[in-house]
Amino acid sequence: MSKFDWFWKAMGSTAERNNKKSKGIVAQAHALIAGYEQYSDAQIAEAVRRTVVNGEIQKKPEFLALLTVASTRTLGMTPFEVQNQAVLRLLEGDVIQMATGEGKTLVGAMAATGFALTGKRVHVITVNNYLAARDAEWMRPLVEFFGLSVASVTEASSREDRVSAYRSDIVYAPVAEIGFDHLRDNQITHRSQIVQLPADVALVDEADSVLVDEALVPLVLAGSKPGEQATGQITEAVSHLVEGKDYTIDSDRRNVFLTDNGAAKVEKSLGIDSLYSDENIGTILVRVNLALHAKALLIRDVHYIVQDGKIDLVDASRGRVAELQRWPDGLQAAVEAKEGLDVSEGGRILDSITLQALMRRYPLVCGMTGTAVEATDQLHQFYDLGVSTIERAKPLQRFDEADRIYATMDDKFKALVREIAYIHSTGQPVLVGTHDVAESEALAEALESQGITVNVLNAKNDEEEARIVAEAGDLGRVTVSTQMAGRGTDIRLGGADESDRDAVVKLGGLAVIGTARHRTARLDNQLRGRAGRQGDPGLSLFFVSLEDDIVTAGGAGEQITAQPDENGQIDTKRVRDFIAHCQRVTEGQLLEIHAQTWKYNQLLADHRAIIDERRNTLLDTNRAWEELAQRSPERATELKASGINQEVLEQAAREIMLFHLDDEWSEHLAHMDEVRESIHLRAIARETPLTEYHRIAVREFKDLANRAVEQAVETFNSVLIDAAGAHMADAGWKRPSATWTYMVSDNPLSGGGNSVISGIANIFR
Ligand code: ADP
Ligand code: MG
Repeated sequence: MSKFDWFWKAMGSTAERNNKKSKGIVAQAHALIAGYEQYSDAQIAEAVRRTVVNGEIQKKPEFLALLTVASTRTLGMTPFEVQNQAVLRLLEGDVIQMATGEGKTLVGAMAATGFALTGKRVHVITVNNYLAARDAEWMRPLVEFFGLSVASVTEASSREDRVSAYRSDIVYAPVAEIGFDHLRDNQITHRSQIVQLPADVALVDEADSVLVDEALVPLVLAGSKPGEQATGQITEAVSHLVEGKDYTIDSDRRNVFLTDNGAAKVEKSLGIDSLYSDENIGTILVRVNLALHAKALLIRDVHYIVQDGKIDLVDASRGRVAELQRWPDGLQAAVEAKEGLDVSEGGRILDSITLQALMRRYPLVCGMTGTAVEATDQLHQFYDLGVSTIERAKPLQRFDEADRIYATMDDKFKALVREIAYIHSTGQPVLVGTHDVAESEALAEALESQGITVNVLNAKNDEEEARIVAEAGDLGRVTVSTQMAGRGTDIRLGGADESDRDAVVKLGGLAVIGTARHRTARLDNQLRGRAGRQGDPGLSLFFVSLEDDIVTAGGAGEQITAQPDENGQIDTKRVRDFIAHCQRVTEGQLLEIHAQTWKYNQLLADHRAIIDERRNTLLDTNRAWEELAQRSPERATELKASGINQEVLEQAAREIMLFHLDDEWSEHLAHMDEVRESIHLRAIARETPLTEYHRIAVREFKDLANRAVEQAVETFNSVLIDAAGAHMADAGWKRPSATWTYMVSDNPLSGGGNSVISGIANIFR
């Protein structure tokens, strides 16, 4: 148990008090509704403005009652009391836990409207493009009712669309698009080119997914400069190595280590003396490690799929293709080489930011999800956020069965197929949550061989995701899905049109089956939450085997013996406790990795903030010209005498300064990336890798600002400046003509979602 226990107890009682207070306000609001129903639309819109005093909603009961009436009129939905309570908690800046299907979309829109009425700009952050567009359109009538504007930004939005969308009061967008626009805006050379305006509030839907699972995923902006990677020979050398003899893998299958025998083999095939010599350690050894990592730990159809001649990463926490994601360049190239594909362009990283750093830029963050309570520690530690639990409008009617535990994977698989076939024979719809693509396909195949029609929802056909998930509650339907597919889509009993609802209710509603426990209980609960929506009946059941990943990773060598029955099933309290223990251990491992990775990222995030500030000064003031004129007075006098407009000169100076600042920052990122990949090899005995990394980062960053200014002075003296401005491109100082963006999935092995890159993984030996 953590040392924060006393603290959470104290927090718990505060949360209760807050909830009590909210309930009182909601009751007062309820009493006001009948009166407001007599108001005209215009009177309601006007009255709501009077609930705002000193930039804050102070008359809360009036505010809620007015929004309730407006929601009924515009959307045909009258918010339940629990929804109103949730709105209050969001306005206070909490993350609310509210079960799947309880109507978080409406709650979010009401809270966003509240913030917008106080003059704040709100970004409502969704998990994907589809939901950003859907929710903005769905909630538009409510927002516009109050004379406020709403828009969405998706991957498909043009630059013009984005410029106008970001000027709305409420903007719905997936987190990646917000981040990419922010990165692109950090390359502009004149304020008028800016696309995104800063927002005051981030309201995050599926908050645990964005704020915890994906927190350390870096978003990257890269320019078109091909990377250099020659990995063919190394891949070849590594491909002959044998597990156990030439390399070993640690128990949680996250790290791989070359043995002396393996090193000797590689040295021979590459024709080098020693992998560990000074000249090879930072270069060849790093690539050998990456190639070995690609060979031994990254499994096709589990961690990635090969499609159209390229690698598509599978998002571990959602079990679907992670669009726009790559691994760090070296690892990406190693996997491409292993699969015999063309090695794709790495490009030069211009800038990068993690989702966590992006979210911390907002003055206020709040959010909603079905599983916030289990993420309380992380939300508090990483964002200083509190969690409020909102009760269900109708009591839960789902039955959560005890786990069925088997000795072997094989016995478990047979039992799974038997159970699904049995439930299916009654007509009850079944939704199966699997852990990877390969497993979902094996299971679908086994079921189909028994004549059962299966809808498979996995990384290979995610465009149909929303449609398939919406139908998962239909009579007789069997849907096999990788775990988090379809978050945000409503599963109604009896099909999306609910035509067979009564029959399905009689059969017990939707049955959700998990093929293994997840690395965190939170993800288990996400899956269970797909059943029992809005007081519907439902069932949830997990199958576990002692050979499952979380058991081997969390059990760390502990052996448990028990006598299985003729089906291989084990059912003792001791085994149950052991499984629970294993899950707590894997949860702890993820937290530890998060904490470690965070320490690596934090320093760069601090550096980035300093660069950001400098950039803004250069953009918004005349500082660039002043500094250059001071350092090079003759050149300044000469330019002024030439009769060039002062504004042109100032913009020329600005472009020169920004160019070199951005250039140096990009170099710094590339350099620190290299250091990070090899730090565990470089770190000397007495220093920890992290200390060593920090030492190098601080030293390198200290000179960055000076170097950027010195280079700018040189360019200022030499580049042609005329009435058209500074001719930077002619002098070879060219910004990349094209940029592209991607997310680095640096957690190929972490299963439950947190990040660890190859280089960092090795630090934890
Ligand atoms: P969540 O995001 O919490 O899983 P959604 O916002 O997708 O839930 O809503 C689930 C369903 O509940 C939707 O079909 C929505 O129309 C419906 N709903 C939400 N609030 C209300 C309400 N107050 N009255 C009637 N239907 C509602
Ligand atoms: Mg939702």
